[in-house]
Amino acid sequence: MASCGPAVSDLADKLHYFQTEKTVGHLYSCHVGWPLGPDMKRRSKEQISEQMRSIRKKDTKPELVVRRLAHRLGFRFRLHRRDLPGTPDIVFPSRRKVILVHGCFWHQHHCGLGRKQPTTNRDYWLPKLARNVTRDAQAELALTNLGWQIFVVWECETRAVEDLRSRISAFLR
Ligand SMILES: [Zn+2]
Repeated sequence: MASCGPAVSDLADKLHYFQTEKTVGHLYSCHVGWPLGPDMKRRSKEQISEQMRSIRKKDTKPELVVRRLAHRLGFRFRLHRRDLPGTPDIVFPSRRKVILVHGCFWHQHHCGLGRKQPTTNRDYWLPKLARNVTRDAQAELALTNLGWQIFVVWECETRAVEDLRSRISAFLR
């Protein structure tokens, strides 16, 4: 495992290190496990956080749990199809079925995790979370209208793997 210290050999660069956006790129690469590509250093903080957001949305741990289960059950799927409303997470085209894996906080599940309210920057977070809920409802309606069947898996449900396996199996058969 690579160390998370400065990856620069030149002393001048080292001194400069903590004042530049290299720090941002390097810290992100350490925490997210990205290789720090040469063009990473030229990216703005906004571009990096945009990319962070897209990474957070895809390939989350709950989604990986669901993908693994569906795969082991023998189903083949496509991921994040942008041509469908809401870019559904896991798509089973031949069955015209999708599985949406929702983070409890981001999508405001009625569970302990989802009810947890942000304590700072509430003016920013509350409308943003409300928009997520609206967007989910719109996407689900649009998918249904196109003839897709939807199964929503909540993050908190991915802890009970056996139960989830049988529900996924029942939905896909
Ligand atoms: Zn939940």
